[in-house]
Amino acid sequence: MTQQHFRPTKAFIDLQAIQNNIQNLKKILQPHVQVIAVVKANAYGHGDVAVAQAALEAGATILAVATPEEALHIRAHFATPDIVLLGACPVAFVPFAAEQRITVTVFDTEWVQQATSLLTHSTIPLRLHIKVDSGMGRLGVRTEEALLAVYQSIEMAQSMEIDGIFTHFATADEENVQYFEQQVQFFERCLAVLPKKPRLIHASNTAAALVKQTDLQYDAVRFGISMYGLAPSAYVNDILPFPLKPAFYLESALVHVKELHTGDAVGYGAEFIAPTNMWLGTLPIGYADGMLRKLSGQEVLIDGQRVPIVGRICMDQCMIALPKAYAIGEKVTLIGGQGQEIISMEEWATKLDTINYEIPCMITQRVPRIYG
Ligand code: PLP
Repeated sequence: MTQQHFRPTKAFIDLQAIQNNIQNLKKILQPHVQVIAVVKANAYGHGDVAVAQAALEAGATILAVATPEEALHIRAHFATPDIVLLGACPVAFVPFAAEQRITVTVFDTEWVQQATSLLTHSTIPLRLHIKVDSGMGRLGVRTEEALLAVYQSIEMAQSMEIDGIFTHFATADEENVQYFEQQVQFFERCLAVLPKKPRLIHASNTAAALVKQTDLQYDAVRFGISMYGLAPSAYVNDILPFPLKPAFYLESALVHVKELHTGDAVGYGAEFIAPTNMWLGTLPIGYADGMLRKLSGQEVLIDGQRVPIVGRICMDQCMIALPKAYAIGEKVTLIGGQGQEIISMEEWATKLDTINYEIPCMITQRVPRIYG
């Protein structure tokens, strides 16, 4: 049975936009380069299964996730594509990863030994991508010697195969390339010491794939934020090789409208006081939906106009100032466009002193994702 959504607060996900973003990316990639669709964190809050399906149809060939649970969830819906677990793989997950053909990240010889002992009955070899920490300081081998030690320990294990090697850039979205180039050089030195090149070498995230040299595309690029139509940084936004189409719109509707008199208070703490007689609308969205209290004062769109959220945002509701009385059910756009006006993820990010990545991720599961 299709689930009914009675509350008018919904996130609309434009899968066609996601597909367009991938197709445009493919046009700037060398023909042999594969697209790894990064669908971790529930596809950056957009919904992992729907996004993965759209991405595969648009030409992505590999799906990347961050946790074992995300990997199993994706595998339950997609039997064949490669799934790469980018995060550290707990040893206890190793037998499941082998059985479910989930490729896991490796960077430690001790882990290889522990994993081997859990694979003695496995008929399917565990596929591994070796992670090089070329400067992100998060996961990965940090010297050529450590890389060779991991490589050799895997080669000696019967039940494992090296399928890839990768690194992750810390500053690919910045104009200054000094640190980025240091990372590239270290990664190149690591590739040079390998006795045999694995099938898949990958390094580029969105920023690197969009604005750095094509030889850094190697065999695959990991396309995350811009698959969702968002630029990785203001710098990249200014030099994008193609326009991005955002895929996430957040809407609600008025559930109550009333006239306030001068001096009437609104919300917890009675913080907002009507400066004059005015109209007030109540929206069924609050901080339990991810609309953090810090967004008080943020504007929303009604009837093509910007109006502010007034008073403190509650758990499930918030109130907005209205220029006139509107009917119950009048559409309100929190992220997206109405008429000439647009409220972007970046506008929320600026208000919250964060980055656009965080915005769709923070909209909680209570807000249904509606696909179109
Ligand atoms: N690769 C790795 C290892 C990541 O952790 C991430 C995201 O955090 C990505 C790729 C995708 O990055 P972006 O969304 O900037 O493309």
